[in-house]
Amino acid sequence: MHTLETLQFDNTYARLPEDFYRRVMPTPLSHPYLVHFNPDAAALIDLDPGEAKRPEFAGCFGGSFLLPGADPVAMLYYGHQFGVFAGQLGDGRAILLGEVRNGTGDKWDLHLKGAGQTPFSRDGDGRAVLRSTIREYLCGEAMQGLGIPTTRSLCIVGSDEPVFREGVETGATLLRMAPTHVRFGSFEAFFYRRQHEHIALLADYVITQHFPSLMNVADRVSRLFSEVAVRTAHLMAQWQAVGFAHGVMNSDNMSILGLTLDYGPYGFLDEYNPGFICNHSDHQGRYAFHHQPDIGYFNLRCLAQALSPFLPQEEAQAALDQYEAAFASRYDALIKAKFGLRDARPEDQALVHDFLGLMEAGRADYTNCFRALGDFNQTPEATNDSLRDHFLDRDAFDAWAGRYKERLRAEGSVDADRKVRMDRVNPKYVLRNYLAQRAIERAAKQKDYSEIARLQELLRDPFTEQPGMESYASPPPDWGKHLVVSCSS
Ligand code: AMP
Ligand code: MG
Repeated sequence: MHTLETLQFDNTYARLPEDFYRRVMPTPLSHPYLVHFNPDAAALIDLDPGEAKRPEFAGCFGGSFLLPGADPVAMLYYGHQFGVFAGQLGDGRAILLGEVRNGTGDKWDLHLKGAGQTPFSRDGDGRAVLRSTIREYLCGEAMQGLGIPTTRSLCIVGSDEPVFREGVETGATLLRMAPTHVRFGSFEAFFYRRQHEHIALLADYVITQHFPSLMNVADRVSRLFSEVAVRTAHLMAQWQAVGFAHGVMNSDNMSILGLTLDYGPYGFLDEYNPGFICNHSDHQGRYAFHHQPDIGYFNLRCLAQALSPFLPQEEAQAALDQYEAAFASRYDALIKAKFGLRDARPEDQALVHDFLGLMEAGRADYTNCFRALGDFNQTPEATNDSLRDHFLDRDAFDAWAGRYKERLRAEGSVDADRKVRMDRVNPKYVLRNYLAQRAIERAAKQKDYSEIARLQELLRDPFTEQPGMESYASPPPDWGKHLVVSCSS
């Protein structure tokens, strides 16, 4: 176990040429205090959780002191925002403090978001507000609990420093962790700057650090692209299956490792609505829930273009085709598991489609319907009321339930066994917007951070019913149904 002073830094990114970043010191938050500490993330870097009790901990991750061995840089990236090339974007407010290697050899970036202006800040203040750090922190941990690849966070540090968004809020920092923060947009930067040698260097960097089996392979850029395409496909399949909308799938928010990255105006589905738009600033619905797989494809095309000096067109196309196939097969497998089906039968597609259709027509709760489906009783006389109650058109539900019973009987499904399998894939709890909002309001208005800790504890294991927590599985109350979540963060 390490103390703050003995963490083992290994700053591989800062050893790349200077065009890749700018060295910059964090701007300290004034009078920083610890809002929340995550022992699970500390364990990833062998950091003694007792360190969070030290008075200097908040200063350390509020930008006041550097850890010995840190080498802070702001990473350069460009990107496509809302489908349009936007040029240089970042990083305008996150500073890579350094990379820590743990005892098992894994490397983790320590990335301080909200650390003040950098040479890439444009007109921004370089800050993050408490609200957005809580949202990002909680969702990263929720995704981890759901088994979906994601960045993590070690802690949130708050301050009373005013930060201006739609209104006045307070500044905070989030210490985010990921094996790397390289994005599709990192490659786009060098393509648009015509620095082709840097594209090759960055590809080799990512391969050496994260895809070592591709080192010294002749067509390694094609192989890297195809790996990224498959990981992105799998990520999209997981988002679609769990009912998660990212909200700002710009190419600079796409991780080269296929992690969920840059949580902003995201949302989990409450009522099932495939066209759900969680980002209030997304007027066209470009990033609506059901568009995400296509947007993943669009972003991969941006990446393919950025790699094009080293990626033959036909190989890029083959990988893009692989994306579509990988998405379809992973999504299909996840959906089948959500229905508790093991065999594949011709009627399955219609069975799934019709269930989703019933949910959509009745504005049924996505998470709770699937969870209730796990309790399905296939005996002919069973009416399955707890599930039936989720639907408006009860006759249509009964007709569907009859088909599902037949389907289950056809593969000899056993109710009790199937429930165990389904409860492992259909979460009881997800980070509904209103739950996050409640934690944010308590933190911002009363400096009461207990709800953040409660949600983190709950969402570490979203598949298991937890005593006393039934209300956290409830659909939103009226005030929480149409919360406005914009890009402002
Ligand atoms: P995001 O929408 O958070 O992914 O941000 C897009 C880009 O704008 C990122 O590269 C950020 O670094 C930058 N950015 C966002 N907010 C700020 C801010 N308050 N100050 C400086 N840069 C920012
Ligand atoms: Mg971003």
